[in-house]
Amino acid sequence: MSKIQMRTPLVEMDGDEMTRVIWKMIKDELLLPYIDLKTEYYDLGLVHRDETDDQVTLDSAEATRKYGVAVKCATITPNKARVEEYHLKKMYKSPNGTIRAALDGTVFRAPILVRGIEPYVRTWTRPIVMARHAYGDVYKNTEIRAEGPGRAELIFTAEDGTVTRKTIHDFKGAGIIQGIHNTDASIEGFARSCFAYALDARMDLWFSTKDTISKTYDANFRDIFERVYETEFKEAFDAAGLEYFYTLIDDAVARVIRSEGGFVWALKNYDGDVMSDMMATSFGSLAMMTSILVSPDGIYEYEAAHGTVQRHYYKYLKGESTSTNSVATIYAWTGALRKRGELDELPELVHFADALDRSVLGTIEDGKMTGDLALISTLPKVEKLDTEGFIKAVRERLEREL
Ligand code: NAP
Ligand code: MG
Repeated sequence: MSKIQMRTPLVEMDGDEMTRVIWKMIKDELLLPYIDLKTEYYDLGLVHRDETDDQVTLDSAEATRKYGVAVKCATITPNKARVEEYHLKKMYKSPNGTIRAALDGTVFRAPILVRGIEPYVRTWTRPIVMARHAYGDVYKNTEIRAEGPGRAELIFTAEDGTVTRKTIHDFKGAGIIQGIHNTDASIEGFARSCFAYALDARMDLWFSTKDTISKTYDANFRDIFERVYETEFKEAFDAAGLEYFYTLIDDAVARVIRSEGGFVWALKNYDGDVMSDMMATSFGSLAMMTSILVSPDGIYEYEAAHGTVQRHYYKYLKGESTSTNSVATIYAWTGALRKRGELDELPELVHFADALDRSVLGTIEDGKMTGDLALISTLPKVEKLDTEGFIKAVRERLEREL
C-alpha cells in the first residue's frame, strides 16, 4: 500500500515528559507507516525552549499563522520547582498563553464520547463543546483593598480629555474593590470564532452571560454576539439548519443539564474556566477531551486538554510500567490531519483521520483501554493495557479498518 501524500506541512509542536514519549509512539506506530508525513517541526520541550530563550515558541506561533494548522504536544509551564529541576535561565511563560496571544484565539474543548465510558449526566448522548473567551475580565483585573472608610470611584478619561466618573461605593469601613475590562475587538473575535466553529462542526451555538445584573458589561457581550450573528452568520446558520440561542447563564446551566447535548456553549472567561472543568469531569476524564484553539481568521491549533502527566513520566524513567491514556493526543493529530486534508482537498487524508478515530473508539469499546478508563468503564469485560500496549492495540484495529 502506498503512503498518503500531503501537500502543505502541519506545524508540529513537540512537548514534554510523558506526552513527549507518547508523541513519538503515535508517530512511529500510527502515522508514519501510512502517511508521507509532512511537518515543520518545532521542539517546545522545556530544554529547547530554554536554549532558544523561548524564541522557538514564538517561531512556532508564527509558522502556525503561515500554514494555518498546528498540532501541539502538552508542555510544561515552568514554576519555581521546574526552574530548579531544569536549571532554567528564567521562568518562561506558558507556551499555550504565548501561542493564544499570538493567534488571538478562542479555546474549544470537546469530550470524546465512547460506549462504556458513560457521562455522569444520563441524558447527554451527544457532545457539548465548551468555548471559553480567553481575554480580560477578572484575569486582567486591578484590585485594591480599602483599609478604612472612603469613596471608591470608577473614572474613565477619554483621549480628548472628557472624564466620566461614577461612585462605586462609599465605604463606612474596610473593604475590597476590583476593576476589570474587556474590549469590543476581543469580544468580536471571540464571537466570530464561536460562530465559525459551530458552523464548521454543524452544531447549534448557545451563549450565556449575566446581562440582567450587568446591564452594560455583560449586555455588551450579548449585543456584540447578536450583531456578529445577524450581519455575518445568520444566512449560513439558516442554510445549515442551525440555531443561535442566547440565554441568561442561570437558565443555561439548568437547560444544559436537561439537554441531550449536541451544541457549542460559549462563555465569558471566568464562566468558561469554571464550567469547562465541570464538563470535562462530567463526561468522564480529562484524557478524553480535545482542545482546539481557533483564531478569528480561521487558524487552527489542536492539542490535548491534559498536561504532561508528570507522575507517569517519573515512573517511566524508573523503568516501571505506565498506563497513560494517549487518546486526546491521537485526536489532536487526527484533528489536525483532517483539517489539513479538508483545506488541501485530500480526501484520503480525511479518511485516514476518520479511520484512526474509529480505531481508537473501537479498541476501547472492545474493552481494551488504559488504567484511567478501566477504573470508570461500565463494560462487562475490561483489559487494562500499558501505554504502548494500547497504542499497539489501536494499530491492529487500524490495519483492519484500512
Ligand atoms: P496533568 O498532566 O494533566 O496530570 C494530572 C493527573 O491527571 C495525572 O497525574 C493523572 O492522574 C491524570 N491524567 C492526566 N492526563 C492523563 C492521561 N493522558 N492518562 C492518564 N492519566 C492522566 O496535570 P499536572 O500533573 O498538574 O501537570 C503536569 C505538567 O503539565 C505541568 O508542568 C503543567 O505545567 C503542564 N500542563 C500543560 C498543559 C498543556 O500543555 N496544555 C495543560 C495542563 C498542564 P494519576 O496520577 O492519578 O494517574
Ligand atoms: Mg480552570
